[in-house]
Amino acid sequence: MIKTDILIIGAGPTGLFTVFEAGLLKLKTHLIDALPQPGGQCSELYPKKPIYDIPGFPEIKAGDLVDNLMEQIKPFSPGFTLGERAETIEKLEDGSFIVTTNKGTQHHAPVIAIAGGLGSFEPKKPLIDNIADYEDNGVAYMIKDPEVYRDKKVVIAGGGDSALDWSIFLADVASEVTLVHRRNEFRGALDSVEKVGELAKLGKINLVTRAEVVGLLGEGHLNSVVINHADEGEFIRETDYFIPLFGLSPKLGPIADWGLEIEKNAIKVDNSYDYSTNIPGIYAIGDVNTYKGKLKLILSGFHEAAIMCQSAYQRIFPDKRYVMKYTTVGGIQGFDGTKK
Ligand code: FAD
Repeated sequence: MIKTDILIIGAGPTGLFTVFEAGLLKLKTHLIDALPQPGGQCSELYPKKPIYDIPGFPEIKAGDLVDNLMEQIKPFSPGFTLGERAETIEKLEDGSFIVTTNKGTQHHAPVIAIAGGLGSFEPKKPLIDNIADYEDNGVAYMIKDPEVYRDKKVVIAGGGDSALDWSIFLADVASEVTLVHRRNEFRGALDSVEKVGELAKLGKINLVTRAEVVGLLGEGHLNSVVINHADEGEFIRETDYFIPLFGLSPKLGPIADWGLEIEKNAIKVDNSYDYSTNIPGIYAIGDVNTYKGKLKLILSGFHEAAIMCQSAYQRIFPDKRYVMKYTTVGGIQGFDGTKK
């Protein structure tokens, strides 16, 4: 059981900055994110796009903003549970919560900050009848640790950047990489398309275009896929892993069933005070919340995180009085008490 003061669901920009604001108040934080990396939409949807409306940065790429946030929160050593979706919540008699992920990891905290943005990004799955039987047994929809595929046979499906980039990367890790795509043309960056073509010529990637994976075979663990080619028909290819990379779509998902007041797929909060929800102890900040005049911008999430942490502090320590100080006056102190 992972214990913390504020359990943050969502490691997008809002969730990451919450660590900083909580850290200033000496509150411990732990983040859960369904994606294998932090940064939310900035990392997943537009890492290379410049952003022009972050105060103090005339221009910054979304990926660099995430790197900076990670650097800024380092002194507070937050915990991370990545690649797992917060699934269920249980309120204990003392008012604290236990949140369990889809992989069964349990987290205990007196305060929950939902910074879930547009929701958890769910993989778009191919329509293969028995695919659910092989999930975690040879089928993966995102790559968390590429070392899992060292010296293994891998079949990747898809025509976008993820499918191309991972095929290139795994060509040096896996014993065999097959990339299957429905068309001859790829949607990804030209540079990556060319690289895949070069690796295919060198025999380091088996490129199968105008084809689809239509079946999965194997007792318990996957051992081969059935590929249907537009001209040649069906054939079987032996593989240890099948990784369909068809993109991710956001869904509010299980949080919608936690008894929170929901309006237009977002969580209603009290913006006259502290971004609390209808359940005492649960706050919602960033893109995931809604109130009159809400702006779905990164800076709104930062502001909401600062206010929410002050309220969380009072909830956790009702008898202590916190006097707000500027960071330049108080300095930033890590949990070990040393000034950074
Ligand atoms: P998100 O970034 O959405 O992060 C939420 C995280 O929560 C995700 O990683 C998700 O996986 C996770 N999550 C959700 N539910 C669960 C669950 N149940 N369990 C585990 N994890 C969960 N904003 C600007 O201010 N300036 C811009 O220039 C700008 N440009 C944009 C361009 C594009 C193309 C897009 C799509 C958005 C842009 N935005 C911009 C909006 C900005 O990205 C969002 O306002 C911001 O990402 C919100 O941050 P967040 O942390 O609240 O949510």
